[in-house]
Amino acid sequence: MVENSQIQLVENLDLTAPALNRFVKPNGISKLVAQYGTPLYLIDEDTLHAKVKELHAAYTKFVGPLKIAYSIKANFNPAILRTFITDGITFDLTSIGELHFIKQCKAAPENIIYTSVTEEFEEYLEVLQSGVRKVVVSSFNGMTNLAKAASKIGVKVPTMIRVNPEVGVKAGVRASYRNGKFGVPFNGGTIDSATKMIKHLMDNDLLSFEGFHFHLGSQITDFSCFIHALDKMDAFITKMKKEYPNFQVNTFDIGGGTPVSYDEPVPSPTQMAENLVSRLNQLVDTHGIFELMIESGRFLVAESSILVSKIVNTKEYSEHKIVILDAGYHLLLDAALLKQEYPQEIVSIPKNKVKTTSQLPTKNIHLAGRLCDTYDIFPLSKVSSLNEADVGRYMSFYNVGAYSLVFNMPFHCQIKPPVIMKTAKGEFKLVRKGSSYERLFIEEGGDIF
Ligand SMILES: *Cc1c(COP(=O)(O)O)cnc(C)c1O
Repeated sequence: MVENSQIQLVENLDLTAPALNRFVKPNGISKLVAQYGTPLYLIDEDTLHAKVKELHAAYTKFVGPLKIAYSIKANFNPAILRTFITDGITFDLTSIGELHFIKQCKAAPENIIYTSVTEEFEEYLEVLQSGVRKVVVSSFNGMTNLAKAASKIGVKVPTMIRVNPEVGVKAGVRASYRNGKFGVPFNGGTIDSATKMIKHLMDNDLLSFEGFHFHLGSQITDFSCFIHALDKMDAFITKMKKEYPNFQVNTFDIGGGTPVSYDEPVPSPTQMAENLVSRLNQLVDTHGIFELMIESGRFLVAESSILVSKIVNTKEYSEHKIVILDAGYHLLLDAALLKQEYPQEIVSIPKNKVKTTSQLPTKNIHLAGRLCDTYDIFPLSKVSSLNEADVGRYMSFYNVGAYSLVFNMPFHCQIKPPVIMKTAKGEFKLVRKGSSYERLFIEEGGDIF
């Protein structure tokens, strides 16, 4: 049994500093806000394609087949889904709602992997009916429901088991910890363990064992957790092969977590892969070839998007200036939830039009959202540049493509802003209409007397 991996983590990483992806020039932003107002989300199609390429290229040294899967929970905007469909990647889904979206956008069912937390019978029935044949189960009850659905439809379903490797994870968001809600442990006294579930799958007419899945967390910058999890997987597969001579892992999905630079520099996907691929290749050597799946939400979409907001109010106290925006955490929830430091920049205007009333350094500026809520403060990034922050000026938040649009909420009767995509042809296309107060009033039941 391998307790401590022979593989050392690659040291001295050359880290990537936060990038301000200025895919729309300042005068372009001025034109767009004149037409659509603020707040306004902008998405760059080229960046989406480039991120898929970058992530794929990082793992080319893996000896087996490789699939990149987009975790659509990070951003389900249909224009983004359609962009990724043209890249031929896989989609990682967690709900029937996401399945509806991806079917409407016409992704092929063979490019879908379904990993839910709820794992209900009716849910699996719909998943299988729509042609999806790769399902990750995360509990014994879920596996039983999947078998029932498979029986009803009359198909045999390749089933993956989501394991919780219970390794320590240093990350923005942790998904693997002891007694956690995701996955099952390798061993344990109850039916909810990989050992017990594999036993059940090994000679099953309705489900076949396809492989393993784990997801350790989001925004992972210390890759030792992956190495520890792979060490545990290695030992577990060895044990299973002793019990079942024809035990074979066909697919191995190592989840998400590829980081994005917001405030601190982070390792690139290539550096991340450098740490993992030799260990993964060792697993192939020992246990035979498998298909590797790399999931990503954050990395694939974050840098593709900007949120443009307007400075609508300011006040000064001696050394400090409070700058109030027409955006709030209803548009960038992670600023409040995770204290995410999105890089910010005042949109530049011609020099002769700058009427700066004060020139306080960025660090003395406090960026506040429009909501009447204490938590509606935007932490500043080290690369933020706000010293021209004055009423009437526009401000861009960068790297907002992941986990922002999808959290839009009507707190304070706020409406969803429009979304514009800069297409690969360089055209600006409205891909989500903004909502209206009338629509929100009706959605909230205002038309029911
Ligand atoms: C959220 C999630 C991901 C994506 O994580 P990122 O950090 O956005 O890459 C991948 N896999 C699973 C199972 C997830 O729940």
